[in-house]
Amino acid sequence: MTKLLKPTLQHIYEARSRIAPHVRLTPLIPVGRRLGLENDFALKCEFLQRTGSFKVRGAASRMLALPADVRRRGVVTMSTGNHGRAVADVARSLGVAVTVCVSKLVPRHKLDLFDGSGARIEIAGESSEQAGVRALELSRAEGLTYVHPFDDPEVIAGQGTIGLELLEQLPGISCLVAGVGGGGLISGIALALKSANPRIRVIGVQMDRNPVMHHSLKAGRPVELEELPTLADSLAGSIGLDNAHTFGMVRDLVDDIVLVSEEQIARAMGQLFRAAHFVLEGAGAAGVAALLAGRITLATDDVVAVVGSGAGISVESFMKSIGGEAYVHA
Ligand SMILES: *Cc1c(COP(=O)(O)O)cnc(C)c1O
Repeated sequence: MTKLLKPTLQHIYEARSRIAPHVRLTPLIPVGRRLGLENDFALKCEFLQRTGSFKVRGAASRMLALPADVRRRGVVTMSTGNHGRAVADVARSLGVAVTVCVSKLVPRHKLDLFDGSGARIEIAGESSEQAGVRALELSRAEGLTYVHPFDDPEVIAGQGTIGLELLEQLPGISCLVAGVGGGGLISGIALALKSANPRIRVIGVQMDRNPVMHHSLKAGRPVELEELPTLADSLAGSIGLDNAHTFGMVRDLVDDIVLVSEEQIARAMGQLFRAAHFVLEGAGAAGVAALLAGRITLATDDVVAVVGSGAGISVESFMKSIGGEAYVHA
């Protein structure tokens, strides 16, 4: 098997056929008018994926690209969030052993999500950084494949399959909006869309509480920032000082990154629930938040898709977020 260095459109097409059995073709539903905007933008409902987020695309793409003998040795990851769930889910359906490394600080209820998944939980270290070191150690010692949450060509190609679906579901698409964390989601989608039509605008959204990709772009290189609590927790965290793919792809392919506040995210979650009965986590609603807050200027004839990327939130946190727009991390 050849291992291409840079993610390409061909990678995305290959990923699409590989991951088809693991992935739902999620609906694209107009919601803009229902939310009170003039532009009837459409929501790409990735929160309806089996594992609750689009991350299943990248995880399946990566694991299915492994040679059979490598895959049989098992995989390792360090995410307790949407990526970890996706890796555990795909591994189980492929009969592949999966180890999730977590730090001592990860709360019990996050580990409970892995009950019945067959994942081996390895508790190591005092921080997610130390858990990551342990994951790499295990990867070397036991020959396990580390499945990176974003900075990997096959993972990026998997997320890019959303772009191929959008080109078919919304011919004439002129603007795409998606949340940005590590940047795998928007890199893959931007590669697919800009290959088809370089004039399609691609806009990323981050929370205003230490948005790492935004500050990295301003600095011209990946930077580290302290991780602050946010409703959009799936967008928080490092992009890696040794970032190999997503920083350059976002710099070259994404037209703009806009920021949203905790209040704007909470309001978008509440409005999506009240107007459409959709439950999205903060990161999943970030794109809608940017549009509702008027952070993205649209022409009247713009044809807009927004990725509703995930639903990984507990009942308690969801109720607090939409119950009082007062519940924000002040
Ligand atoms: C991971 C994630 C994102 C961001 O994806 P990146 O590839 O890290 O940029 C957005 N929304 C949800 C729900 C996620 O789980």
